[in-house]
Amino acid sequence: MNNLLSEAEKQKIITRLNEKGVKTNCPMCGHKNFILADGFFNNPMQSNFQGGIVLGGPSIPTIAIVCGNCGYTSQHALGVLGLLNQSQKNDVYGK
Ligand SMILES: [Zn+2]
Repeated sequence: MNNLLSEAEKQKIITRLNEKGVKTNCPMCGHKNFILADGFFNNPMQSNFQGGIVLGGPSIPTIAIVCGNCGYTSQHALGVLGLLNQSQKNDVYGK
């Protein structure tokens, strides 16, 4: 499988998480070995499920770090980290 993120993108994300003071002690098991997931996530938001799941509406684009011991996953909004492009700022948390 091809890498979804370039090494430069990964380094930028890691640098930004460090700048924000993100701790890498797993809150579930205490281990310190977190792995950056190799791709972005996009979490769709909706007010109800009556019409099924709607894709393409407001969303929260994120990156995730995963505990290498227990798999606990921590997602971080790209907008808050300042890692969204101008064209992606229509998302709710992309501002
Ligand atoms: Zn863990």
